Amino acid sequence: MELRITEIFHSLQGESRSVGVPTVFVRLTGCPQRCVWCDTEYAFQGGEKRSLDAILEQVDGFSARYVTVTGGEPLAQPNCLPLLTELCDRGYQVSLETGGAMDIADVDERVSVVMDLKAPGSGEQHNNRLENIPHLRPHHQVKFVLADRRDYDWARFMLDQHNLTARVSEVLFSPVHGQLPPGELADWILADRLPVRFQLQLHKLLWNDARGR
Ligand code: SF4
Repeated sequence: MELRITEIFHSLQGESRSVGVPTVFVRLTGCPQRCVWCDTEYAFQGGEKRSLDAILEQVDGFSARYVTVTGGEPLAQPNCLPLLTELCDRGYQVSLETGGAMDIADVDERVSVVMDLKAPGSGEQHNNRLENIPHLRPHHQVKFVLADRRDYDWARFMLDQHNLTARVSEVLFSPVHGQLPPGELADWILADRLPVRFQLQLHKLLWNDARGR
């Protein structure tokens, strides 16, 4: 069993509920989407085919408790599902970062899914797989990356429409780095009393988005 891997590295979790926690990242190669503000275009192609055993051995070598499987779009590779299950079986706290276009129904129940809903400014709104919403569980997280006020208003609409804050433990709102001033987004959230978590990507603040960190 093999997966195409762009990189495996140890860093601090840059976002989500476990921000700041030392984590091993397994970045799978390939993504069917093309968000205009994507910051991992280097993972669209290339990579290296690795056996499941070799991947697990490398992850084990970091002696971390947390593992994040990311991409690209990890669920674009069917073998992502057994990788997630193997990681859970080994006792890791596992999260999966997925862009929201692929089916999450068969993801191992123990995995904390961090699912994007793509706002209009991403150019990928039409690919949101809304059939995923009934599969969201209380330990999952939904993330909106917002480029402007129109994106923010759309995200508010989606919160109401799908009762998202009741479905998942965290709804995350992030500004597109270098596009929407973070303070503006923070002010909007506070003015509207939205029960969401504002977040900045820690790895960008610490390391300016250097690859492999
Ligand atoms: S889904 Fe993620 S990896 Fe794919 S284009 Fe969008 S931001 Fe980039």
